[in-house]
Amino acid sequence: MNLIMFGPPAAGKGTQAKRLVDERGFVQLSTGDMLRAARTSGSELGKQVAEIMDSGALVSDEIVIALIDEQLTVQAGAAGFIFDGFPRTVGQAEALDKLLESRGTEVHRVVRLKVDEDKLIERVTKRFEEQGRKDDNPETFKTRLEKYNADTAPLLPIYAERGKLTEVDGMASINEVAAGIDAALKETV
Ligand code: AMP
Repeated sequence: MNLIMFGPPAAGKGTQAKRLVDERGFVQLSTGDMLRAARTSGSELGKQVAEIMDSGALVSDEIVIALIDEQLTVQAGAAGFIFDGFPRTVGQAEALDKLLESRGTEVHRVVRLKVDEDKLIERVTKRFEEQGRKDDNPETFKTRLEKYNADTAPLLPIYAERGKLTEVDGMASINEVAAGIDAALKETV
């Protein structure tokens, strides 16, 4: 099962992905987490992406596609993959199709967490205070939302046309969102 968790930053994608890891043994592939780990480790890649991430812009397709490619190989045989924060551009979506096709599989479902952008700002301000993530500050968060609307939201009609898209109310409680996702997965594959 290959599932894409789709939605703007701070929509709750990571929370739901982690739950599916715990409950179903799926593997979460979060490009944001991978890039943050690269920064913490002080690697060349980490240094290369630091400034871009802190500005709220997107790192290059080439970098994130390579990270996903590597993880699909390292974690081959997993019960399922949850793509969290990837793909974020049409180029990444096309690359993902190819990476999966070359492994004899495909994107099975895309779950979109629908959220109210004004409420997201409140949510992320709280996360900024609790976790201190630099790119959660309100100004940078605005840039991230703009990038989502400009570069990532255009993927929605593509997956909808392919009959892969399920929309879940991301403003509901964590348990209600989880139930919505579980219902979508029940009907998949
Ligand atoms: P996230 O934790 O998913 O919000 O990602 C944090 C930051 O990492 C983003 O604002 C981007 O700078 C970068 N990033 C994460 N995933 C991607 C991606 N798929 N494409 C481009 N940049 C990404």
